[in-house]
Formats: sequence, C-alpha cells, structure tokens
Amino acid sequence: MGLFDKKYCDICGSKIGFLGVKKLEDGQMCKDCQKLLSPWFSDRRHSTVEEIKRQLAYREANKEKVAAFHVTRSFGSLYKVLLDDDKKQFIVTRYSDWASNNPDVVDFSALTGCEIKIDEDAEELMTKDADGNKRSYIPPRFEYDYDFRCTLTLNHPYFDDMDFETSSSIREQSPTTGNVALRVHGDDYLKAESDLNGIKAWANDVLGLAEEEPAEVPAPAAAAAPEKGLFTFPSLPKTREELLDLPGVDFKDPFSIAAAAVAAFTRFPEDPEACYVMLDAIKGPQPLSNTDKAFIKDRFFDGKTYVPRSYFEGAVPDNDYTPEIPYRIRIKESVHSRDILDQGYITLYVKSGGADAERPIVLRTKPSTGEWFLWNHVGILADIRVPKSADPWA
Ligand SMILES: [Zn+2]
Repeated sequence: MGLFDKKYCDICGSKIGFLGVKKLEDGQMCKDCQKLLSPWFSDRRHSTVEEIKRQLAYREANKEKVAAFHVTRSFGSLYKVLLDDDKKQFIVTRYSDWASNNPDVVDFSALTGCEIKIDEDAEELMTKDADGNKRSYIPPRFEYDYDFRCTLTLNHPYFDDMDFETSSSIREQSPTTGNVALRVHGDDYLKAESDLNGIKAWANDVLGLAEEEPAEVPAPAAAAAPEKGLFTFPSLPKTREELLDLPGVDFKDPFSIAAAAVAAFTRFPEDPEACYVMLDAIKGPQPLSNTDKAFIKDRFFDGKTYVPRSYFEGAVPDNDYTPEIPYRIRIKESVHSRDILDQGYITLYVKSGGADAERPIVLRTKPSTGEWFLWNHVGILADIRVPKSADPWA
C-alpha cells in the first residue's frame, strides 16, 4: 500500500483525503464523522471503530432528548448550564442556538462532583512621583482579571468531566475615590459569581450535600469573653511609650494597631510633634513623610481637634465629643476587609459618633516578622458633624 493510497472512513465509508484522516485505535474516520462526536469527548485515538459507532448511535439518539429538553433554569453567560428540572437532565453549551448543536443531554444522576473557582490575576497600577520615578499609589491600586471556572465530574460512557468558563474574563480596577483599598465588585462580576454559586447549589442539591456553611463568623461576645476589636484604655497616651503600653496593643494584632492609631491622633491638638513620634512608632518600616505631616496639619487646621476623640464610645456632637472614661473603641472588619490580604493589607473600620459611614484604616503586614503597621490613616481624619458648641445653627 503506497503512501498516497486513498483511505476510507471506517464509519461512513466515504473516501478521506490524506490530511483528513483521523486515527482510531484500529482504523480511521473522516472529519465529518468526527464532528458528530460529543464536544466533551477527547479519547478518539484510543477508541475502536466499534466504540465510535456506538457513540455516534448515542449521539443520534441524543437529538430526541435535545428536542424534548425544556429549560427551567440557566446559569452562565459564556458557557451555560441549562437545567430541565422536570426531566432531571442538564446541558452545558456555549451556543445560544444550542438546540441545533446537539449538545449532550446528561442525567442529573450522572453527576459525581462540581468544583467552582474564580481565578484572580492582579497587577499593580503604578504612578510617577515628581521626579518621574515609578512608584506605588498609596494605598496601592491594582487591576484585576477574573476567570469564572466550573468543572463538573461525571459518570458517563463518553466523557469524565466538563470543564468550562461560565463568563468571559472580567477586568476591574481598585476604585479611585473613597476607600481605594476596599474592593467593590461591579455588576458583571456579581452576576458571574452568582451564576457559579447557582451551579454549585444545584450540584450540591443533586449530590445530596448540604450547602457549605458560610465562613465562621465569631459568635457575639459572651459576657465573659473579650469582644474582638474592642479596646479599653484607662487614659489617652501622651508619649510613644504610653502608646505602646496601652492594654491590648500588640503588633501581631492589626485591630490593636488601628486602635492605637486613633489614640495617637488625639495627641495632635496639644503636641503635634509627639503625635508624629507616636504615629512613626506604629508605622514601622515607613515613617510619616513631610507630605503626610502637612496633610495631618491641614486636617486639624480649622480647629477640628475633636475628630480623633469622636471614635471613642460616648462621644457625640451634643456633648462636644466627650468620650466616656475609660476610653473604649471598637475596631471592626467588613466582608471586604481581607480582599487584598494576600498582598499584605487589611482594611479595618472604626465608627465615629459624628458620622454615619464607618471610617477605613489600612494596615500592612511585614511578612518576615508577622507584625502589622499603620499604612493609611486618611480615613481617621475625614470630616464629621461639628460639635454643638461650634455649630452656629445649634
Ligand atoms: Zn466518515
């Protein structure tokens, strides 16, 4: 038999051009027959002519199931998981005209597992300083790319899994205003995330698994147990030593460093230099720059000396922000606090008696020591309602 002898498809019998030969374990098939195979099937070279013929018979019979398929639920915008809850069958397809593409109709009972995953790729956005050198934004800003992946594992004669993306990649950037360290997802992300969660919930239901418990939320403080993030100080610190001696202040605990930052700012009105020394103590590797100091001075310029003490319990506009003694302050976290924890940052929050929105404080960790340091304090100095004594309309 010469190299250029015509070959024939072992499935349909038609002649195959030399380049169109698709090898099988014990023969060959043509491109047209190959197109009829399941898109999830990947083991052609190790399949026999008989196995391929059986699969094509299955694929032919599948057309009737497609015709009878009635979509009751649908998840995804790129690849879609379509459910027929009445017949307990599903389809995974990337075609909007799926009914004409003979997608495999799979019984719910064939499902053996489901993994969902949002892959994230973050790239830091840089700016230039006055000298034209590249530098990080403060706090750092990032561009994120997200891929929404799902893998269904199956007990099926022709394929073991379906691995697909339920959405096109979604790109987002750190916000430019407000709390830039806080990541808030846009509608596209939220829709894609909700689709993945919908698939997972359906799969868990089919597999008889309970919904995964939401992440453990610390139980509300029992009377005896100390409340996480609540700090009680007998007095406000006047020196670096007093600051670091405050009860609970520990560089291993970012909540305590956030509380210490607020305490340090209460020193500014009487002694700005002492305040800077205290802030430097908790800023660790990166002390205040002259720009930072000018910013702080500017914030206090209009006599807004009451802002730092407004974060302590009992301080409200009506009492000119006079905290109760001992001084108590609550540092909290939100669901987004740990969004960029993998890059070493945590955003914590503190409530002022003179504002509705909680103020962010960003801490940064030094991986070699596990210590946390104050990274961004701007939120602490945001404007609040004026105290009664300073309000001409009171
Ligand atoms: Zn053929």
